[in-house]
Amino acid sequence: MIRPVALMLLSAVPACAATPVSPPVVEYRIAVSLEPKEKMLEGTEHLVWRNPSGDAVSELRFHLYLNAFKNNRTTFMRESGGQLRGDEAGNKPGDWGWIDVTSMKIAGGADLTAAGEFIQPDGNDPSDQTVLRVPLPSPVPPHGEIALDVAFRAKLPKIFARTGFVRDYFLVGQWYPKIGVYEPAGMRHRARGGWNCHAFHANSEFYADFGNFDVTMTVPSRFVVGATGKRVAETRQGDRTAYRYRQDNVHDFAWTADPRFVVVDFPFDPARDVPPEVAAKAAKELGLTEKEIALKPVACRLLLQPNHGAARERYVRSAKQGLVFYGLWFGAYPYETLTVVDPPDDGGGSGGMEYPTFITGGEAEPVLTRWPFERVRGVEIVTIHEFGHQYWYGMAGSNEFEESWLDEGLNTDSEYRSMALFYGPRDMAQLPGGVGMTSYAFAHDVYTRLPNLDPIDSCAWCFASDSSYAANSYMKVGLFMAQLKNDLGADVFARAQRAYFQEWSFRHPDTTDFFDTFERVSGRDLSTYRKNVVDGRARLDWQVVSARSVRADADYGVFDTGGKKATYDDGVLVPSGGKSAPRREEQDRPKTYATRVLFGNTGDWPHGAKARMVFTDGTVVERTLPAEARWVRFRIAYGSRLAWAAVDPDRQNPWDWNRLNDSRVLDTGKGAARTLGVRAFVKYSAFVAYLDALWTQILWALA
Ligand SMILES: [Zn+2]
Repeated sequence: MIRPVALMLLSAVPACAATPVSPPVVEYRIAVSLEPKEKMLEGTEHLVWRNPSGDAVSELRFHLYLNAFKNNRTTFMRESGGQLRGDEAGNKPGDWGWIDVTSMKIAGGADLTAAGEFIQPDGNDPSDQTVLRVPLPSPVPPHGEIALDVAFRAKLPKIFARTGFVRDYFLVGQWYPKIGVYEPAGMRHRARGGWNCHAFHANSEFYADFGNFDVTMTVPSRFVVGATGKRVAETRQGDRTAYRYRQDNVHDFAWTADPRFVVVDFPFDPARDVPPEVAAKAAKELGLTEKEIALKPVACRLLLQPNHGAARERYVRSAKQGLVFYGLWFGAYPYETLTVVDPPDDGGGSGGMEYPTFITGGEAEPVLTRWPFERVRGVEIVTIHEFGHQYWYGMAGSNEFEESWLDEGLNTDSEYRSMALFYGPRDMAQLPGGVGMTSYAFAHDVYTRLPNLDPIDSCAWCFASDSSYAANSYMKVGLFMAQLKNDLGADVFARAQRAYFQEWSFRHPDTTDFFDTFERVSGRDLSTYRKNVVDGRARLDWQVVSARSVRADADYGVFDTGGKKATYDDGVLVPSGGKSAPRREEQDRPKTYATRVLFGNTGDWPHGAKARMVFTDGTVVERTLPAEARWVRFRIAYGSRLAWAAVDPDRQNPWDWNRLNDSRVLDTGKGAARTLGVRAFVKYSAFVAYLDALWTQILWALA
């Protein structure tokens, strides 16, 4: 179905983010203490939940994420097999994690503790205890509210899948009883209101409502603590210290404690930290003034491992680059603080993760920050990516369970663009001699090695494999967004993406909302992208199927001349009876070549491409291969031979599947045709690299 597209002016891009919903759906006041030896948390939680719908809500649902790590029968452990993101779960008796709600009462009212029951809303693993359903004695009326007092005890797992402890380093995420999202009818295009509260799945991340957090963490005083939001109080009680943090308009809260953290404060000051040429570029693309996209100061803090000094400046620089790129292009970072946690070498499972105003880095182990590995920009990529989640999930609060592409994918695109902006064409790795790696080449490599079993838009646990989840949620979206950017033009794309962020800040958008905004701002029907690329798994593969160029000025064969039959070979009359006849044409006649080039799209996504044919005299012929064509054949009679033919010569189709078949080289010549050697070498090298990868796979298969 083609949806009607309203033609809107590009000036429809709001300069400021949507304001948070007020009063917020959730308000948490939590007091928690950490017993570092036992790896235990003991806490109380006062929760106010406001019914955002016109429905009377007769039960509440809570995530108890830590129960994913309770035993090997949970949904998470069954799906992950105890392995996630290259990390392995501990299976010693002290490695498991769990959470108990020891008491739940309506504030000043009924005790709900005994009524709670574990449910499996996704229909699997009856022993899974990551979702708690609590029936209420009387429903929360439409747009009414309920206040609860909850007590809980939790044992943290040995670090695995983002959270837990190693020695006395703690990264405390997904740790408190967290209410699910009650989605009113219409939100994310659902027909009827209802709870959206999934089990904790291996590949899935999270989804929650926006609100205000006020959290006090009490730990032994030797610990250095960092958390979501701003520290508002610090109280010493004997040998323990209570740290109180507050943050409004976020949907999660995480914290960390480690006695060895080196505290590095690095205030972000827009006057000093925004490169003027970058601000000018953003303003130009967005059609806004530099004043309209001005950024705000942020109190940034890095909690660094003592043996990671070599990564210190790289963390600081890349966090600021994140604040600059995302802030200028999408909207100023609205929070006062940003905390970057550097995990220890044995706590890598907690690295590369995002929470509101609080992120964890990675790739900072001493071996990775020394020659020659320091030339791979791991610290920068992870820091910019995790910072970027402040936007794609942190503020544009999509459902990470059901549509991981809207956070991981959009963020991958933004990460690639930031890296290219600040580090140039070899952004991922820069080796001596101009050799390096770009994010897009990496993404394309991952895409083409994929069996391509799934579409981009799928629930996180519905993908065929971990690698299918990863490629579809991250790299494929990076390529899709690059394709969209090339097709719409950088300015239109930038304006549409800013509009999407601004309109959906502190809200919960879905895939339809994404396309609606992009269609409205661009004035284009983008249904082919949704159908083929996001909801489908269509490939695009324009190629030069064949190319031929032969002399066509000379006659061959039998001709009737003056009532007699004469036979010609290469324009020369073949003598008969020993008598030579005059040539049909002079040998120095003007040359003509018959060139025939067949271009074809063997992919199943109808999308156009540019064709370029270069002749030996330097003449360049360009044609557009239309989206609806399966193949296009050109027959050209011209005075020079074809030197080479290529499809998508300017690499405007990041979605194109196979680049080895994009050109044919026949000859060399003048101007643009003087590249036979280079082109042949590049093609040969690419082919060798392809064979090498194939060979490696065969070896792996044998091993
Ligand atoms: Zn991510």
